[in-house]
Amino acid sequence: MKNGAQALSWQLLKAVLSIYFAITLLVTLAQMGIEYVHTRKTIETELSSVERTFSPALTTALWELNHEQLEALHQGIIDLPIISSMRVVDARGRPLIDDVVQSALGGQITHTFKLAHQFSGEEIFLADVSFAATGDVVFERLRVGFQMIAFSALIKSTVLTMLFLWAFRRRLGVPLQKLTDAVSAIDLDSLGDKHHLDLQQVQANELTELETAFNRMLQRLDEERIAHYSELEAINRRLEKQVVDRTYDLQLANQQLEQLVRTDPLTGIANRRHFVERIQIEIQRARRENIPLSLLMMDLDHFKRINDTWGHAAGDEVLRNFAGAVGELLRATDMLARLGGEEFALLLPNTSQDGAIEVATRILGVVHQQSIDCDGEQIQYNVSIGTALLAEHETRYECLLQRADEALYRAKENGRDQVVSEQAI
Ligand code: GH3
Ligand code: MG
Ligand code: MG
Repeated sequence: MKNGAQALSWQLLKAVLSIYFAITLLVTLAQMGIEYVHTRKTIETELSSVERTFSPALTTALWELNHEQLEALHQGIIDLPIISSMRVVDARGRPLIDDVVQSALGGQITHTFKLAHQFSGEEIFLADVSFAATGDVVFERLRVGFQMIAFSALIKSTVLTMLFLWAFRRRLGVPLQKLTDAVSAIDLDSLGDKHHLDLQQVQANELTELETAFNRMLQRLDEERIAHYSELEAINRRLEKQVVDRTYDLQLANQQLEQLVRTDPLTGIANRRHFVERIQIEIQRARRENIPLSLLMMDLDHFKRINDTWGHAAGDEVLRNFAGAVGELLRATDMLARLGGEEFALLLPNTSQDGAIEVATRILGVVHQQSIDCDGEQIQYNVSIGTALLAEHETRYECLLQRADEALYRAKENGRDQVVSEQAI
């Protein structure tokens, strides 16, 4: 139980005991009142019997005016434990005995009677007599009775309190504590049969109903948790599949993008960017393996004229045709790229100057054979080619490109549709 909390059984017990003690107090007070009235009546009866006992002797003593006898009777009466005071007043109102004792407690019980003497058939009044039992006497009698009542009330209250305490603890406190402990011990994340409540109630009562209801709730929670768990697993599986699919799509898109940024969209061959990457790799390999590396720079002749004559679309078709025709001549290791406009480069790894010239010459021949249909008319074109060989100790591709360019320039200058190698410059 948490700090500051009070057990329900204890709270109930307190309420029951408060009511019980209040009732016990009232009953005890009533019993004491009845005892008090009863004691007074007993004392009054006893005083009457004293009157009956002493009346004849007192009457004789008064009639004969025998003071000694009167005094002796006075002493005898006053010595009785019940009588604390006595008073005798004669017919003329003179007090013959006036032995009055005041009690501090009050509650005095007085018994008064008249004494008369029968003389010649006539009743002659002699005196008024009064006996009194003081409050002390009354309360002395009551003390024992009161003590008994109070003692029995105390014993009853104590025994009942213990019994209540035991019964409340056993019937309410212990099961409730069990319930609290069992509920606190339940781990909602790992329910199951072993986590169900079992208060071991012998008789069916509200607690067993609570136990049943709670167990039903736990079962529903467990079922829902399992359902949620499998739902969550399904969602997870879906998500994982989506992630795998998305990753695959992304990788594919990346590959396509990679391909796109390295490809010339018009002809489908490598673009300048790809070409620059590759030529640097090939220069390094050529250096490392000490093998030749040749480069062809190719520019279509009077291409502007083709565009002007046949239209831009026809020009595009020529560019595509050239890329396709050259592509068919190449080895797997060769690389054809469109550097821009109608300018192409061909990288020939492990190819000497002569080999490069041979390839270039073959290209010229193949281009001569090309004929492109444009609205029923045939377009033909030519190309000028400059070749260059990677020089010893040359590491920068720009130099190789420039030399191939210079050879190409010379081919143009020389009348186009021809191959010029850098050696010829
Ligand atoms: P030269 O023989 O001296 O090389 O003359 P040319 O006409 O081929 O050279 P020029 O540089 O004067 O013209 C090249 C033309 O190529 C100009 C441009 O409009 C055209 N061109 C560039 N790129 C494309 C393209 O992608 N498609 C088409 N159809 N034409 C292009
Ligand atoms: Mg040009
Ligand atoms: Mg040109």
